[in-house]
Amino acid sequence: DAKKKGKNQFSLYTAELEQQRIRKSKIEQLLHIAVENQEISLYYQPIVDTVSKRIIGLEALARWSHSELGYIPPNEFISIAEENGLIVPLGKHILKTACQHLKHLHKMGFNHLYVSVNLSLRQLRHHGFTAFISRLLQETALEPNCLELEITENIALSDEEHVVNSIRALKNLGIRIAIDDFGSGYSSIGYLRTISVDTLKIDKSFLFDVTTNSNTAQLTAAIVTLAHSLSLKIVAEGVETKEHLRFLEQHHCDMAQGYLFSPPVPFEQFISLLYNNPSPTLG
Ligand code: C2E
Ligand code: MG
Ligand code: MG
Ligand code: MG
Repeated sequence: DAKKKGKNQFSLYTAELEQQRIRKSKIEQLLHIAVENQEISLYYQPIVDTVSKRIIGLEALARWSHSELGYIPPNEFISIAEENGLIVPLGKHILKTACQHLKHLHKMGFNHLYVSVNLSLRQLRHHGFTAFISRLLQETALEPNCLELEITENIALSDEEHVVNSIRALKNLGIRIAIDDFGSGYSSIGYLRTISVDTLKIDKSFLFDVTTNSNTAQLTAAIVTLAHSLSLKIVAEGVETKEHLRFLEQHHCDMAQGYLFSPPVPFEQFISLLYNNPSPTLG
C-alpha cells in the first residue's frame, strides 16, 4: 500500500512538472509574438525623497497580460526571455519606451525626474548595447544622468571582461548605475570597490521586518551608513507602512519606494500621481 501511495505521489509530482513544462513552452511561444507586436507595456512606480516627500524618480516595470493566459508576472516571463535571448529586443523596447515617457514628463515640466530601468546580464553581454544607449539618449535628447540602470549583485560580481567594460562605458556616458535587491543574496560587497555605482536599493526583505526585528533594524541602519560613507544614494524598496517610512526618516535613508506611496501604475495614472504630489498620504 505504501508502495502504491509512493507511486501515486511520484506520478503526481511528474504530472506537476509536466504542467510546468507545458506552461513554460506555451509562454515561450507567445512571448515571441508579444515582443514582436510590442504587447509588453510598462508600469511605473514612484521613488520618493524621504525628506521632501516629493516624487523624484520612477522605476519602469514590465507588464504583460495575455488574452488566454491572463497576467504573467515579470519574474516569470523575464527569466524565460533571459534564457532564450528575447530579452535583447525586449530590453530595447523597454528602454526606448521608458526614455520616451520620461521625455514626455520633462516636457510637461516635471524635468527633475529620472527613470530607473532593470537590466539583465544578457543585455550587458550583447555587443552594441552601449552604442544603443548612447543613440537612445541622443534621439530623446535626455541628459544621461536622468537614466539609471539597475543591475543585481550577481551582475555586479561578473568578471566577464565585456560585461565589466560595458558597465564602465555606460558610466562614462554619464548614466547612473544602481544595485538592485541589495543584500538579498549571499554575495560579497567587494564589487563596490571595483565598479562605480551611484545608488544602492535595499532589498524589500529588509523592510518586511525592520520595525519588528532589531537585527534587521541594525543591519538596515548599517547599510545606510555604508552607502553614505561611499557617497552613494540609498533607496529602500517595499515601503508599505508609515512605520517603515518613519524608520527610514530616522536613519536618513534618502529615498523610498513601495505600496505606501503607490503600486506600479500605467503611465497615464503616474501623471496623475505627479499632479497630486505631495499628497496627504505622502505628507
Ligand atoms: P525589482 O526590480 O526588485 O522591482 C520591484 C518589485 O517589487 C516589483 O515587482 C514591484 O511591483 C514590487 N513592489 C513594489 N513595491 C512593493 C511593496 O511595497 N511591497 C512588495 N511586497 N512589493 C513591492 P514586479 O513588478 O512583479 O517585478 C518583479 C521583478 O521582475 C523586478 O524586481 C525585476 O527584477 C523584474 N523586472 C520587472 N521589469 C523588468 C524589466 O523591464 N527588465 C528586467 N530585466 N527585469 C524586470
Ligand atoms: Mg528594480
Ligand atoms: Mg530588478
Ligand atoms: Mg528590487
